[in-house]
Amino acid sequence: MSKKKGQAKVTIYPDWCKGCGICAAFCPAGVFELGTDGKSHVVREAECVNCGFCELHCPDFAVSVTPKEASRRKTDAHGDPRSEALNQSAGTDPGPEENVGTPNREEEDGHKKA
Ligand code: SF4
Ligand code: SF4
Repeated sequence: MSKKKGQAKVTIYPDWCKGCGICAAFCPAGVFELGTDGKSHVVREAECVNCGFCELHCPDFAVSVTPKEASRRKTDAHGDPRSEALNQSAGTDPGPEENVGTPNREEEDGHKKA
């Protein structure tokens, strides 16, 4: 999949971090380092490949990894209006049937006039 670097925002919540070092040990990109304060710190966020390991293995849920994929939202936004448009067109379906009758009336009028 798309395991490119720099695609995620990595956040550590220091109040929850107990400095066990699991995130630093598991991270394949060396994003974390344990500080002298006994907490893990994000030191190389640009190297993060968004594998999700740290989030999964932190026993205190102190790590958050958020993909930076604003462009994907546009794709989603395209999907939603489309489904809405389909719903709307389904709602208008009865309309065209009425419209089919309208030209007939006009034709009748035209015959009456001619
Ligand atoms: S795994 Fe969680 S608790 Fe352990 S050092 Fe990393 S952020 Fe802190
Ligand atoms: S998501 Fe993966 S690469 Fe990114 S900081 Fe967590 S363990 Fe490291």
